[in-house]
Amino acid sequence: MSGKNIRKAAIVLAAGQGRRMNSHIAKQYLELGGKPVLFYSLETFQKSDIDDVILVAGVGDVDFVRISIVEKYHFTKVRDIVAGGKERYHSVWQGLCALKKWYEGDNGHMGQGVERYVFIHDGARPFLTERMLEDAAQCVRKEKACVVGMPVKDTIKIADGEEYIADTPPRSLVWMMQTPQVFTYELIRHAYQKLIEEEEGLLAAGVRVTDDAGVVELFENQKVKLVRGSYENIKITTPEDLVIAEAFLSLSGR
Ligand code: C5P
Repeated sequence: MSGKNIRKAAIVLAAGQGRRMNSHIAKQYLELGGKPVLFYSLETFQKSDIDDVILVAGVGDVDFVRISIVEKYHFTKVRDIVAGGKERYHSVWQGLCALKKWYEGDNGHMGQGVERYVFIHDGARPFLTERMLEDAAQCVRKEKACVVGMPVKDTIKIADGEEYIADTPPRSLVWMMQTPQVFTYELIRHAYQKLIEEEEGLLAAGVRVTDDAGVVELFENQKVKLVRGSYENIKITTPEDLVIAEAFLSLSGR
């Protein structure tokens, strides 16, 4: 257990289809150093003081993930493996529902009087470290909501719909978002509940949600603090990312 009166859960997302990878295998199952990409962040959670892990896999991949990753590598903190949804936020919602069941179920006597934090992590980011988890854990206790990210190195432009530059935000204020994104359980559960209820209207209004902080920004009167991750904490999205990841892996000695 992560500490007196604190319970920490991770929702690890691995239900994307990896269309940008040009591979028939989803990016989180592609091999890196001879193991699936998803293995690496699960290993970090297993070694850390996170108590419970909910894994969200693609529809039809749940058994594959259970047998060839969770059981094979003895990831004993994984409490449930559930099927994700069409968009990332659907997958997070499925993870939050499974977590609710775990907290309320027979083994889940860890409810009242306990502060609960949820770490939402992309399974396609293998270079999660225990330091990131510790920094985010420390931050969320004070701030209730924090996200790991890094200041951008390149100048970022906002484009209009026709690929002309519409705006240039000051570079010193622009960060790229990574995961984990970490919240109190009540806050993130409430924000996602609202999102699911109001999904249709938001879609009609052209609102697209691509990270968890975005959901909190939309529905909660809660500031979200930025925590420095690392430039190595990349999301494996396109084929060249795998080349870079192999280099980071060999540097890490894992
Ligand atoms: O699609 P994107 O690159 O934002 O995916 C980030 C993470 O979310 C990946 O680990 C991916 O597997 C996961 N995801 C998911 N369900 C989806 C889409 C993405 O679990 N429908």
